[in-house]
Amino acid sequence: MASPGSIDSLIFEEGAPVKATETNSRVSDYFGRLTFSGDVMLKRLPPDVAMSLAGTIMKGHPLDPMVANTVAGAMKDWAIDNGATHFCHWFHPLTGSTAEKHDAFLSVNGDGVAIEKFSGNALIVGEPDASSFPSGGIRDTYEARGYTAWDANSPAFLLTTTHGVTTLCIPTAFASYTGEALDMKTPLIRSVQAVVKQATRILRIFGTDTGVNQVFGTLGCEQEYFLIDQGLFQERLDLVICGRTLIGATPPKGHQLDDHYFGAIPSRVLSYMAEAERRLFELGIPVKTRHNEVAPGQYELAPTFERTNVAADHQMLTMHVLKDVARKHGFECLIHEKPFAGINGSGKHNNWSLSTDTGTNLLNPTVDTHTNLQFLVFLCAVIRAVDTHAELLRASIASAGNDHRLGANEAPPAIMSVFLGEMLTDIINQLEAGKPRKTVKGGTLDLHADSLSDVPRHAGDRNRTSPFAFTGNKFEFRAVGSTASVAWPTTVLNTMVAESLDFMASSLEKMVGKKPTPAKIESSVRSLLKEVVKKHRRVCFDGDGYSDEWTKEAAKRGLPNICNAADSLPIFKSRIATSLFSKYGVLSARELKARGEVLLEQYCTNLEIEGRTLSTIIRTQVLPASLRAQAELADVVGATQVAGVECPDTEADLRALVGQISKLRTGILEVEAALTSNTHDPEKYAKWLRSELVPAMTRTRDASDWIESRISAELWPMPTYAQMLLVGR
Ligand code: ADP
Ligand code: MG
Repeated sequence: MASPGSIDSLIFEEGAPVKATETNSRVSDYFGRLTFSGDVMLKRLPPDVAMSLAGTIMKGHPLDPMVANTVAGAMKDWAIDNGATHFCHWFHPLTGSTAEKHDAFLSVNGDGVAIEKFSGNALIVGEPDASSFPSGGIRDTYEARGYTAWDANSPAFLLTTTHGVTTLCIPTAFASYTGEALDMKTPLIRSVQAVVKQATRILRIFGTDTGVNQVFGTLGCEQEYFLIDQGLFQERLDLVICGRTLIGATPPKGHQLDDHYFGAIPSRVLSYMAEAERRLFELGIPVKTRHNEVAPGQYELAPTFERTNVAADHQMLTMHVLKDVARKHGFECLIHEKPFAGINGSGKHNNWSLSTDTGTNLLNPTVDTHTNLQFLVFLCAVIRAVDTHAELLRASIASAGNDHRLGANEAPPAIMSVFLGEMLTDIINQLEAGKPRKTVKGGTLDLHADSLSDVPRHAGDRNRTSPFAFTGNKFEFRAVGSTASVAWPTTVLNTMVAESLDFMASSLEKMVGKKPTPAKIESSVRSLLKEVVKKHRRVCFDGDGYSDEWTKEAAKRGLPNICNAADSLPIFKSRIATSLFSKYGVLSARELKARGEVLLEQYCTNLEIEGRTLSTIIRTQVLPASLRAQAELADVVGATQVAGVECPDTEADLRALVGQISKLRTGILEVEAALTSNTHDPEKYAKWLRSELVPAMTRTRDASDWIESRISAELWPMPTYAQMLLVGR
């Protein structure tokens, strides 16, 4: 019998086969079954209350407090009928993950009578102790009070663990006693408000706001992840503690053959995906796409887009479900940006747009794009925003994990540039020259095989190397880290675009005057866009973003290229950032400063933990194994020489090994020295760790990887890259 996690077990033990039809029904029958919305709401609430709550969910109205008790009672009964005993306010503190504190519905009165209770008040507000969540100095530990407030736009849901425990989760915002946001959601909602307000001004100028009750943000986030065998994962302290390997020699085969990407999904993995998807469907998360990614063991999942704050909640839940279900199938789901050095990392692609409730996507170029001036205003506003606030956009995705991707060979570089594609680039050229007169059409592609039909061809190619690409009818922010909460980069993006749309709207309002005619609007738009394109098109780049030429060219164009988080994060303290975020009501100066501090602290803490983990692994696992190998080799040399035979090659091997062990020791001493800095200023400390600790870790790793690839496999104390990535799928 193979031991769990051994290579044999991988080959012979299939994950528990899960049928997509386990519930014996169509997905459409159970989609959203575990959310308090749609059918569930209609069946459980009196019609007027259901209407009022639907208005809150669909239209973003605040919840009428008069209906809260009724909603809470119905929600409680529904949750209990589905096996829940507890409820929690579910929120996104600044840790970047989610938080929940469970309270039982059960209440025992003075006579010892037990009943289940859940009041409107308990639904709407919670009072968790805020002192142990990061606040960036907004609060002292003794100032414990914090509040959670229901975000009724995002439906409550029942979260069931793979072990069958069900909890009613109420999505909430989280703030301090003094009202400052201590979470990811509050600023996200505020930023949507800001960008929508400015977008509406543009619609008003074009007279396209008639019949529109609401503009809202849309977001669809693709998620990349790795799956490795759970048993192997448990044997790697670095994966368990840091989520990524800190050492590991490159396997003989990586993704050189490109044979994994879009390959047939291994049966065991597909069973896992099917179960994860079923759970996501039940939670009302519209997952749509699944496929193998580029690296061995790497996969991707993408949902259909939704309203921004719902999508952000769903993204957090998606990461949770992916991890939870993986364990049931004997896998560990690695969400880290770079679990394996030298192998493709993982990202999240945030597809972002704005839409009206009448169904118009404001970033839809339509067929004759050159005549679609409103679209061109939105397009140019985004280009202007990315150019003007490139450093902020860069900082919005800065983290210790993402440092391994940005600028690395297989991921978007740290230069923020916009990919437009052939058709839009042509229109931008025309705008700069004066009046746009034509739209390049894609036409059709003749495959020159009679039995194959012609393929409609897009008017522009795709570009995998751009961090911020226009992809048909939305922008795709591709540089977001795979572990990131999408709320923060989206908040920053919304705020930047709000400023840019404000600039556009204010300029146009001035130019068109009090009584705008269509001709006046057209000429004003043309002259504004000409100016904007001239000034900001330097940020547009359609070529190979991974090439050295682009790095040089970008420097010539004056575009920032900030290669690590320690250099990037301090931008949140700048005066420009402070006034931007406070002007649009997204974060006060105090809130933004606090957020910057938290991000820097997290960066430092992550690096410290990695440094300590590396030191432990090297001292307790790698060094002992290396010394054993050294002793074995020395024995061979000694015995061979005693037998009267010269063995110069083995002697050379021994000398080389001793040399690398010495490097290993030096490296680990340097790592440990770098961890003893007494700098207290977070910015200085982050830079110190970046310049001292990170290179020392790399040097240590180099020695360790050298040793790993030369000593006996029997002596190596942990699973190798090849075992984790290539075996048994
Ligand atoms: P592509 O393959 O070009 O990346 P897809 O249509 O497959 O495009 O979409 C990728 C992601 O973008 C999906 O999550 C999808 O729902 C999302 N998406 C599509 N349209 C929009 C939009 N208007 N706003 C936000 N996200 C969108
Ligand atoms: Mg995509």
